[in-house]
Amino acid sequence: MKLKKLEIIGFKSFYDKANIQFPQGISAVVGPNGCGKSNIIDALRWVMGEQSVKQLRGKSMEDIIFSGANDKPPLNMAEVTLTMANDNGHAPEEFRDYAEISVTRRLFRSGESAYLINKQPCRLKDIYNLFMGSGVGSRTFAIIQQGNIGAIIDAGPDERRLFLEEAAG
Ligand code: ATP
Repeated sequence: MKLKKLEIIGFKSFYDKANIQFPQGISAVVGPNGCGKSNIIDALRWVMGEQSVKQLRGKSMEDIIFSGANDKPPLNMAEVTLTMANDNGHAPEEFRDYAEISVTRRLFRSGESAYLINKQPCRLKDIYNLFMGSGVGSRTFAIIQQGNIGAIIDAGPDERRLFLEEAAG
């Protein structure tokens, strides 16, 4: 499966809907400090089912909902949709026939939340199952956060083994 598109609204610094396309090849996000580059990675982790608030650089899950900035009022809901091209047959059996698979996660300030696959409500477990074996996941080394390359290089043999085992699933 390949990353195709990420739609973000109400998540962290994204007040207006952002539609980020990932064309064939390498994509880079460039911008000044604090403009929200890492928030895009947080959105990606979150939609893939991340449960750790710390991994999302917040104190509580509510912190991921747009809290207001530059005269824009706080929002009550965050929603992220990740669309993947299903081009290598790594999707689970029930999704084999779909050319594209979309995953959506929603969170309301009330605490209510929802997960959807191809716009159909599903369980968090279904989201994990979808990514399992695909080489992508909120905690695999398909996503390497700032400072982690250094950690891998500086690791001793035992720690490095853990990194490799985690990457290998
Ligand atoms: P750096 O270059 O320093 O790594 P960055 O471009 O990756 O920065 P981020 O860390 O992604 O930037 O974004 C930080 C911005 O997101 C800050 O301006 C912060 O106020 C804003 N932000 C984070 N959470 C929220 C939220 N819930 N509501 C509104 N804005 C938020």
